[in-house]
Amino acid sequence: MKKVAFYTLGCKLNYSETSTISRMFEAKGYQKVEFEQNPDIFIINTCSVTENADKKCKKIVKEAKKISPNSYVTIIGCYAQLKPQEISEIEGVDAVLGAAEKFRLIELLDGFAKEQETKILASEIQEANIFNNAYSIHDRTRTFLKVQDGCNYGCAFCTIPLARGKSRSDSINNILDSAREIAKTDVKEIVLTGVNIGDFGVHEGKRKEKFSDLVQALDEIEGIDRIRISSIEPNLLTNEVIEFVSQSKRFVPHFHIPLQSGSNTILRKMGRRYLRELYEDRVNKIKTLMPHCCIGVDVIVGFPGETDELFLETYNFLNELDISYLHVFTYSERANTRAVEMEGVVPMRKRNERSKMLRILSEKKRRKFYEENLGKTFTVLFEEDIEDGKMHGFTENYIRVAAKYDPVLINELKTLKLSGINEKGNVEVIEPDMVYETH
Ligand code: SF4
Repeated sequence: MKKVAFYTLGCKLNYSETSTISRMFEAKGYQKVEFEQNPDIFIINTCSVTENADKKCKKIVKEAKKISPNSYVTIIGCYAQLKPQEISEIEGVDAVLGAAEKFRLIELLDGFAKEQETKILASEIQEANIFNNAYSIHDRTRTFLKVQDGCNYGCAFCTIPLARGKSRSDSINNILDSAREIAKTDVKEIVLTGVNIGDFGVHEGKRKEKFSDLVQALDEIEGIDRIRISSIEPNLLTNEVIEFVSQSKRFVPHFHIPLQSGSNTILRKMGRRYLRELYEDRVNKIKTLMPHCCIGVDVIVGFPGETDELFLETYNFLNELDISYLHVFTYSERANTRAVEMEGVVPMRKRNERSKMLRILSEKKRRKFYEENLGKTFTVLFEEDIEDGKMHGFTENYIRVAAKYDPVLINELKTLKLSGINEKGNVEVIEPDMVYETH
């Protein structure tokens, strides 16, 4: 029996796909092992958004060859689609597969017999037009369920459409089948995953279904306690979806909404499909219906043309906005994007300064969000995430709770009242015989 190990870089979508590909191997009689367990085959699923994707890829290949010098190393994922030639030149790589090929890798690499030359099987991205469903089973608590892939937007900084192709989705019926399968396991939470999930419903280039219909259908699935919408574009987050989530049985009060910039000038240069006024309106709508809702924001600093003044527009906009945390990305140039050709390059030193300012703002926002939720009761889903004798879990509105380690609580939902913030800035939750804290 051949042994196969996997390594995943990047986003939830990559994790869901690696997990599904690993189950395909197991179904064919391969043994899935850990990276260090001397595998015969390594599958490395790469990301193009990750900083230094090339260096990371090289490092992992080197490690793999150190562990298992005669192994067969296969590279898949966004970076493999964008730079197959470059990857094929990395010493130790046996095969590089593109977006249209990765789900057929067992059949395409028949037997994984080593050859003199590195195999490159990466068609043009237009060929990646089939939706391959996937979901992760990486821990007992939650699963990333892929519902959509690709993107038809062309944001000036983004390479994802080049790496993943056009927007396409699974059908609601198939997704419900996957959700029912997941419900048979011990998993308590599903995180809906995609590149642009608000654009859900496109099949063979035509819109056939709507994201709001998917949300309503999933809410009826028995055996799943929570469903989280991972990230959704503000212009696609409709009132219908917000209103439904506000009274749903399973969808949790947590939205992650990419803003990217709080300056309309920069939003236009980025080619985003909304202005800051729309974003503010979405946040207000959510907070009116769900004052306890957690709202996370993606923001990019140092995009070409972002002067000090325009950055301050973003800073002040976010400072005023009722949001809970930020994910800050420092802009970095990517080949084949419109942004690399743009004038007004921001020096790296300034990009880093701005990033630091927003990270501090994010901490302020998070603390304020926690303070607002003190005295309220939430349900914590505890995970096998143990550090310094403590275990962790998340409330439905994404407050991270730390508690004294108790193995019985893993993968359990516990209703708790958030009662105070301790000197470390953590929220404590007092229950008879138990002290919980969040951070
Ligand atoms: S919406 Fe923009 S940033 Fe998001 S994947 Fe599509 S092109 Fe990239």
